[in-house]
Amino acid sequence: MTARLLEGKVFAAKIREEAGKKAAEIKEKYGVTPGLAVIIVGENPASQVYVRNKHKACTELGFYSEGVEMPENTTREELLAEISRLNNDPKIHGILVQLPLPKALQPYESEVLEAIDPLKDVDGFHPVNVGRLVTGQKALVPCTPHGCIRMLELADIPMEGAKAVVIGRSNIVGKPMLHLLLGRNATVTICHSRTKNLAEVVKDADIVVAAVGKPRFVTADMIKPGATVIDVGINRIAPKKLVGDVDFEAVKEVAGAITPVPGGVGLLTIAMLMQNTVDAAELQLSK
Ligand code: NDP
Repeated sequence: MTARLLEGKVFAAKIREEAGKKAAEIKEKYGVTPGLAVIIVGENPASQVYVRNKHKACTELGFYSEGVEMPENTTREELLAEISRLNNDPKIHGILVQLPLPKALQPYESEVLEAIDPLKDVDGFHPVNVGRLVTGQKALVPCTPHGCIRMLELADIPMEGAKAVVIGRSNIVGKPMLHLLLGRNATVTICHSRTKNLAEVVKDADIVVAAVGKPRFVTADMIKPGATVIDVGINRIAPKKLVGDVDFEAVKEVAGAITPVPGGVGLLTIAMLMQNTVDAAELQLSK
């Protein structure tokens, strides 16, 4: 293997440590413990696992944590009322509505996410936070791309002037990643399903971020020798086998640094949620 392995657990531990330190500073300065509320509607087993992990991460860092479990048949009005209660609760600094919502509530997803106070929007999905990110202002940023950029910083991967290619243009990963890299003065290209000559575009990149959702989509011949490859993809190809969007075994022989799947970016997301919660607390308390 030639590439340096960027292990998620190493960076997640650093991000948690930073979040814990900042929480202690907030406690000392304002006498307040950061608090996170996670709303889960219905009984999606995968979502329940995520919610438990979020609660555990909060407990480990000494945050106040509130899990709000609402039944599958919750109405739009009931969900909006719960968000309003949490918006007004001073113990809560971050609010997250676990997605996907049950089918009957899906038409209201944007309305639900926009009902969250932008200062408590730790998922960074509210249009106010999206606008702040795009215009280069302090914003709450979606946890996965925020984790990727923090990992690049902690790993000392140079971004200023680097050519970066992001594959995927979702609101959750690709687009925020584009703006985060731009904010670090990278020259960024974003690719999607209609991009022509994608392999050629990717081959020119010093940093490649793959967020496509297609197993082993990025192959070794697309990678410039020495490039940094960040694999956001999580694809289940067999009951117990997860792979990323990058053909890890082949690409690690060409890349300069690479994240594995599993064990890479996936581990940063909850750590970054903790960081976003302390950032949100600080934003609210400094107002
Ligand atoms: P989406 O499905 O929302 O977006 C996928 C993007 O990939 C789209 O922009 C799409 O283009 C593009 N794409 C699809 N096919 C091609 C192709 N053949 N060539 C070029 N681009 C293509 O996915 P997400 O962004 O939500 O997630 C991406 C991956 O990251 C998934 O595997 C997901 O599981 C994983 N993920 C991991 C997280 C973590 O915690 N680690 C968190 C979130 C996501 P177009 O817009 O033209 O359709």
